[in-house]
Amino acid sequence: MKSLPYPDQDLRRRALAWAVKLKVNPRVLRVQTMRRKWGSCSSAGTVTLARDLSDREARFQDYVIVHELLHLRYATHGRVFKALMSAYVPGWRAMERQRLA
Ligand SMILES: [Zn+2]
Repeated sequence: MKSLPYPDQDLRRRALAWAVKLKVNPRVLRVQTMRRKWGSCSSAGTVTLARDLSDREARFQDYVIVHELLHLRYATHGRVFKALMSAYVPGWRAMERQRLA
């Protein structure tokens, strides 16, 4: 992924496509350097993705993106949240171990 000329834009595009699919609407979607996390979602609707994600495989990017976008609808990792993760990102539990935070 690093060879792409515009990694930030590519991540943003990917996340926006997921937002449409999940029918959520982040107020702000940004890509920036994050030291301890792959992504975050604020209660105000700002979704932030770590720039380093562009070096990771697409499946892992999807895992982080879907996780953060689902937080726009569900604040906690409850039963519904996990069921939706399984529906959209099969195998997400294995990727959870690669997550830093
Ligand atoms: Zn979470």
